Amino acid sequence: MGGGLRADRRADRRDARDAEEHTGRDAMTTTIAFIGLGNMGGPMAANLVKAGHAVRGFDLSPAAQDAAREAGASVAASATEAVSGADVVVTMLPAGRHVKAVWEEILPACAAGALLIDSSTIDVDSARAAHAMAEAAGCLSIDAPVSGGVGGAAAGTLTFMAGGSDAAFAEAKPVLEAMGRKIVHCGGPGAGQAAKICNNMILGISMIGVAEAFALGETLGLSHQALFDVASTSSGQCWSLTTYCPVPGPVPTSPANNGYEPGFSAELMLKDLRLAQAAANTTGAATPLGAEAAQLYALFAGQGHGGRDFSAIVEWLRGMGVGK
Ligand code: NAD
Repeated sequence: MGGGLRADRRADRRDARDAEEHTGRDAMTTTIAFIGLGNMGGPMAANLVKAGHAVRGFDLSPAAQDAAREAGASVAASATEAVSGADVVVTMLPAGRHVKAVWEEILPACAAGALLIDSSTIDVDSARAAHAMAEAAGCLSIDAPVSGGVGGAAAGTLTFMAGGSDAAFAEAKPVLEAMGRKIVHCGGPGAGQAAKICNNMILGISMIGVAEAFALGETLGLSHQALFDVASTSSGQCWSLTTYCPVPGPVPTSPANNGYEPGFSAELMLKDLRLAQAAANTTGAATPLGAEAAQLYALFAGQGHGGRDFSAIVEWLRGMGVGK
């Protein structure tokens, strides 16, 4: 399909959306290829199906393929087959090298003018390289990593942080809205990944800070609830305390009340902290606490805790005390 025809199709979709706003009906279906149907991609693809899109998925794992079929997607025999004739392609893969390899493979089969959305969490350099590959192939692209975890993916309440041109973002927004609640355009190519790793560096550092405060409070005879009641309404207030409290009790929905089942695993936190460190090394930014947090999570995960929720680091910190 030629670029002009693709542009026409995009214009048709815009008209259809306008019509939909007036009539409340789904006037035109978008064909979406979804590559990487794992813990996050599986439920995200299912929400695209629920929103009325025609979803053609692909994953290397037969179990992920079966789950996608059950959710109402069709499953292609290869990534290349999945993208052929698709208006939009979403990738949700483990790391930058997977995204670059898959994009390299699929771009020759993508229609000119197609929109590629990468929602994986990857390094900023790989994200920018992927954008350049898409541009060279005459495709639109955005990096759109997410926060909200597996629960948010299933509920369709993810936050998307997007990087790319205004035109690409305008095309992507309605697709992302079927999978998330908050969609933020953070800037040009790579800006979504930049926002993601900066946010998660705050999260890793703040979780360690909150965990250290509870561990210190315990040694001083302070109850968890008393510290929570004070800090949650004082200057120590933060998400790691008030929404995701690392000790059982004060926040009943936090993983601490569920044996530290993730949630968000220590392994994934370590991945994001390492991405932040790689970016800091490239740009020369000073991130001493980010570096320390990466080192602590590396030790924690290295001692067999990688699959636990990242807030379980409180137990490990307790164990590091000298116990006077
Ligand atoms: P996952 O391992 O469950 O899923 C990745 C999927 O990609 C797997 O099913 C794998 O088979 C598939 N895959 C790998 N290479 C492929 C290829 N060449 N072609 C087709 N499929 C391929 O991981 P996940 O938890 O779904 O995470 C995906 C991304 O989302 C990661 O970048 C992760 O950092 C990010 N993320 C995860 C969470 C979370 O809570 N799990 C939260 C936010 C962001």
